[in-house]
Amino acid sequence: MLTLKNATKSYTVGEFTQKALDNVSISFRDQEFVAILGPSGSGKTTLLNMIGGLDRYDSGDLLIDGKSTQNFKDKDWDSYRNHAVGFVFQSYNLITHTSVLSNVEVGMTLSGLPSDQRKARSIEVLTDVGLKDHIYKKPNQLSGGQMQRVAIARALANHPEIIMADEPTGAIDSATSLQIMGLIQAIAKEKLVIMVTHDKALAEKYADRIIELKDGKVISDSNPFGVESENAGRLTLKKTSMAFKQAIRLSFNNLRTKKFRTLITAFAGSIGIIGVAMVLALANGLNQEIDTLERSTLAQFPLQIDPFPIDIQAARADALGQSSEIDFDEFPDVRVVYPYEPQVSATQQINVITEDYLDYVRAMNPEWYFEITPSYNVNIPLYLKETNNSYRGVDKGRGGVFFRPAVTSAEFLDDYYDVIDGRLPENANEMMLVVDTANRLNIRFFRTLGLSIDVSEYDFETFYDLEFYTFFPDDYFLPTDDPLRFQRNYELASLVEGGQALPLKIVGIVRQAEGSQAPGFLDTGIKYHPDLESVYLEEASNSLIATTQASTLIDVLTGNEMTAIERTNRLRFLGFSKDPSQILIYPVDFNAKTAIREYLDAYNEGKPEAEQIIYTDLASLVTELTGDLINGVSYVLIAFSAISLVVSSIMIGIITYVSVLERTKEIGILRSLGARKKDISRVFNAETIIIGFTSGAIGVGIAYGLTFPLNILIRNLVEGIDNLAQLSFLAMISLIVISMFLTFVAGLIPSRIAANKHPVEALRIE
Ligand code: ADP
Ligand code: MG
Repeated sequence: MLTLKNATKSYTVGEFTQKALDNVSISFRDQEFVAILGPSGSGKTTLLNMIGGLDRYDSGDLLIDGKSTQNFKDKDWDSYRNHAVGFVFQSYNLITHTSVLSNVEVGMTLSGLPSDQRKARSIEVLTDVGLKDHIYKKPNQLSGGQMQRVAIARALANHPEIIMADEPTGAIDSATSLQIMGLIQAIAKEKLVIMVTHDKALAEKYADRIIELKDGKVISDSNPFGVESENAGRLTLKKTSMAFKQAIRLSFNNLRTKKFRTLITAFAGSIGIIGVAMVLALANGLNQEIDTLERSTLAQFPLQIDPFPIDIQAARADALGQSSEIDFDEFPDVRVVYPYEPQVSATQQINVITEDYLDYVRAMNPEWYFEITPSYNVNIPLYLKETNNSYRGVDKGRGGVFFRPAVTSAEFLDDYYDVIDGRLPENANEMMLVVDTANRLNIRFFRTLGLSIDVSEYDFETFYDLEFYTFFPDDYFLPTDDPLRFQRNYELASLVEGGQALPLKIVGIVRQAEGSQAPGFLDTGIKYHPDLESVYLEEASNSLIATTQASTLIDVLTGNEMTAIERTNRLRFLGFSKDPSQILIYPVDFNAKTAIREYLDAYNEGKPEAEQIIYTDLASLVTELTGDLINGVSYVLIAFSAISLVVSSIMIGIITYVSVLERTKEIGILRSLGARKKDISRVFNAETIIIGFTSGAIGVGIAYGLTFPLNILIRNLVEGIDNLAQLSFLAMISLIVISMFLTFVAGLIPSRIAANKHPVEALRIE
């Protein structure tokens, strides 16, 4: 079954080369008890390890079932050790942190046997060696003889055809030795047993065949076996593989025996996670704060397109003289003042805002803005019905009514206003009433509407019941000889009856939300739906006056000494222009604002200066400042936590490496039982992942606990900022995963080192 052919092995230490085996050829029978005798250093262990597949020959060959092993790969050797060979060592080589039972099970685990079968078989072999009552003990709770029995049971468990024993009784007292020898002799009745010993008497008493070694050479063989007469038994090599579950269990057991150390390691690793978690928690809250700040800033400062825009940057540059092309030294040491001519003054640009431009603005991505509010500065007449035949003209604005177009985006209004009753206006016929934070309205408001001011309070219903009307120019004005003046048509009642008037109703009461910063774009009074303006303008342009008198009117206006803007405004006031007087754009956030600005800039591309439209962004200065500040702070925080993450990863890497060193012996044992390199790295990877999980969980837990005192501290330092540090569930889970990943990566190198340890060297470590 096994044949060693001209096997040679030498070790080189420094300059000196030692031939441990020198051209050794031996054939073994399928069943016999062979004792290898020889003085210390004669090459016995080297020979045994070579036959057992723990060590390689330099030259020569080992034939297994007649097959050469010269082309064996690592996995073939692993499989050979696992299935065909059982090792018994002088120093027992048991894994100290698991039970006797687990020690016996390991080899079977590696060959992928299900756990119930493993357990049954382990108990069977442990019973055979007389340890039935000790299976749950740890190896160090046993005597030397008992430990060696465990080793024998482990060697037998996987039904190997060959048992290798290296001085099995070397560390045991003579009486116990005899028992162990008896046990081995019994095994040799059905297997090939190769036992190394330097005890000649013991060899002669028990062995069938004695081979003597000296200086790495065979000097005698009591019962040689001819290679030619070898019967080729079938030795099948199945693949070994350790289930990941088993790797986890092994590492978990190991970690359990070192609870305190594991905890310390995990705690060390958690420091980085705590850092990142705190940064995340703070950044989270800070972002929310900034978001609110941004929103309120935006609300107060929408992008504004006015006929006379102020380009802040240009204006500032102008003021600083930077728009001048004159070369000048800064901070000159002279006693004179230079006059300079500014280039283009920012305020000289006039925006001609057309209907087409509004269409262009409206065509932008609707996700960028809450609302685009054009205003036409159109003088929409407002009348309040008092009795069936009388209508009161409402003095808008001056009378405290502040009849103005409303911003209607519910999403936008939501942040600042509460609809305390009714609903928001939805079409041109509907309006809303904005009251102040104490539900008050200026006394002039009531006067203007003809409501008694002796009443201390008014029901909401009073306002819902008010019947307002507006009239279109054709029906409302009568032409006169002067094209700039119109005579009022007071036949309002008949217009209402004839259905020519547009009824207007208040449908909701709105108030600033509690705790919101007043954006100030919605003052108190009646607000109409923006659609009313377009409806009114539509009607106006179709009106009789428009068709018959507009041209005359325009001629007159042109002849007048009016600027283009004044003329447009005049026409607009009368309802003859559909060009907006102003456009306000309320962006959803700062990024959206940037996109909108780019979109508006694109309109100007390639256009002559006169046709360009310049917008005003009053919030831009604030934005740039806070943006830079926040970015700076976050970068510093991120850098800090990244450093702590790296440091703790390195720490875990080092601790894992120490663990590798500590467990070298165990690695050797596992390898001798047929564990692949992959299995070894798995055990360590499993260990680092468990540590990673623990440190992640500890870190997240501590960080979560820290957010409470931190929030109290921040609340005391900065008024109005509550719960700044917030750790989301998702962030916690992510951090644990990141921690597991990082420790896994940190442990890769140590686990690779562990996997590449030579099994023989590893076993030699005490
Ligand atoms: P034995 O088991 O018969 O006492 P070994 O097989 O262990 O002898 O060793 C045979 C020779 O090889 C000895 O001289 C020993 O010093 C040497 N040797 C064994 N292993 C190594 C090694 N890893 N490095 C260097 N020399 C070794
Ligand atoms: Mg030896």
